[in-house]
Amino acid sequence: MVAFEKGKKGELETLLRKAVEFHGHLGPFVVIGARMGLIGVREMGAKRNDEELRITVCSKYSVPFSCVIDGIQVATRCTMGNKKLRLKNSSGITARFEVRNEKQVTVKVHPAIFERLKNKFLSENVPTSEMHELAQIAASMPEDEMFIIEGK
Ligand SMILES: [Zn+2]
Repeated sequence: MVAFEKGKKGELETLLRKAVEFHGHLGPFVVIGARMGLIGVREMGAKRNDEELRITVCSKYSVPFSCVIDGIQVATRCTMGNKKLRLKNSSGITARFEVRNEKQVTVKVHPAIFERLKNKFLSENVPTSEMHELAQIAASMPEDEMFIIEGK
């Protein structure tokens, strides 16, 4: 269904299946969220359900941008419900990962990528087939082209 960045297939593929089931559809933003969650957990050296992990997601609270929240939640098990994830209204998409107020890592969607996706979604009603295509691109794009990671 989705092609993946080389060497990262297994983990992301399993996760995306869960994320899509939870979220209800496949699109680029839920994929981006899942990748952000995986990167954050990896960079923090935290396990997926580290009790101490807290995440602040900065995004617009409107679809399709807010779809990243579900990807991050499934990837990290930090959710709005367990209060380990909170949302701040913002124009881009950034997630800040913290453990015990010490270590901090910020994962940001590259502004150029974000602008391209934003313009696409704001200018037209994107059909399902194209949503899946964009999801595939989001899954396979090299990490350093897609994200800016700070504090690692
Ligand atoms: Zn969505």
